[in-house]
Amino acid sequence: MDMKTPAARPPWSRAILRGAAGLTLLLTVSACGLRPAHAPAIPPPAVDGANALRLATAFTALGPRPAGSPGAQQAAVWITARCREYGYVPEVDTWTEAPAGTALTFRNVLACLPGRAPGRILIASHYDTKLLPEAPGFAGANDSASSTGLLLELMRAFARLQPAWAGPTLEFAFFDGEECLDHYSATDGLRGSSRLAARLRTTGTAKEYRAMILLDMVGDRDLKLTLPVDTEPGLARRLLRLAERRNWDSHVGFHSGAMLDDHIPFQELGIPAVDLIDFAYGPDNSWWHTAEDTTDKLSAASLAGVGQLAADLAADLAATPAPAR
Ligand SMILES: [Zn+2]
Repeated sequence: MDMKTPAARPPWSRAILRGAAGLTLLLTVSACGLRPAHAPAIPPPAVDGANALRLATAFTALGPRPAGSPGAQQAAVWITARCREYGYVPEVDTWTEAPAGTALTFRNVLACLPGRAPGRILIASHYDTKLLPEAPGFAGANDSASSTGLLLELMRAFARLQPAWAGPTLEFAFFDGEECLDHYSATDGLRGSSRLAARLRTTGTAKEYRAMILLDMVGDRDLKLTLPVDTEPGLARRLLRLAERRNWDSHVGFHSGAMLDDHIPFQELGIPAVDLIDFAYGPDNSWWHTAEDTTDKLSAASLAGVGQLAADLAADLAATPAPAR
């Protein structure tokens, strides 16, 4: 993610979405169709923080993965292989754009777990790293390997639920191109999330989504989630209640402003979205976007806490009728 306060720039940049609307869409039909049935309340899966940390560490070891680089291509292949290991059939959505005037190939990795209840829940992370000339080896342990590893662990945990997941269809998205090359604009930054949101708009499927849950910078051993202040109130209340139930509410607070992050293109579509982000990484956030962002700063307990909150949220939504939108 990048610095995202209203003081720095408008938090909700409609220009970003105008840019996304101009993309050439390669639409594919999702294998996850809706299944009309009533979903009974089901317990969430137990999230394994140690597995999330193992995945995040292995992903970091691949090296830098800025959008358009061979490292990013290798990262997408690695994610795809893990998805298959966990029983998914991933789709790699590949396209070319020229943010900041440089033509780059982007790849989103998408997968889904069919549910038995109506609706969909999107859980996502970006997987690219910021291109840092001053730190050419920057491999982003927290930003973005932590959330990539945790998203894969969530996929594993939900796929192994017995009995099978009875809630809404779960869609998982690994976004490329979250980081901007120059500065956030209509064509620079949030490329993967804008790409998927444009698909939902074009296909008219946005209204099927109960929620969008974004994971970003979730591995800090000293973890404090700082939810954007404009998080949809119902979703925020639900999150705080669930965190309290786990005695984990001391790890959840609010950021002083909004965040310009991958949840915004979905929020703009009217989908209740939350950015589970810890934007206090090291003293005064000084490890963010620096060579200090290394795996020794991560902890399995933090990953387990955030992952469990996300899993609890999905299960809690599954047990509640969808409001009309
Ligand atoms: Zn970042």
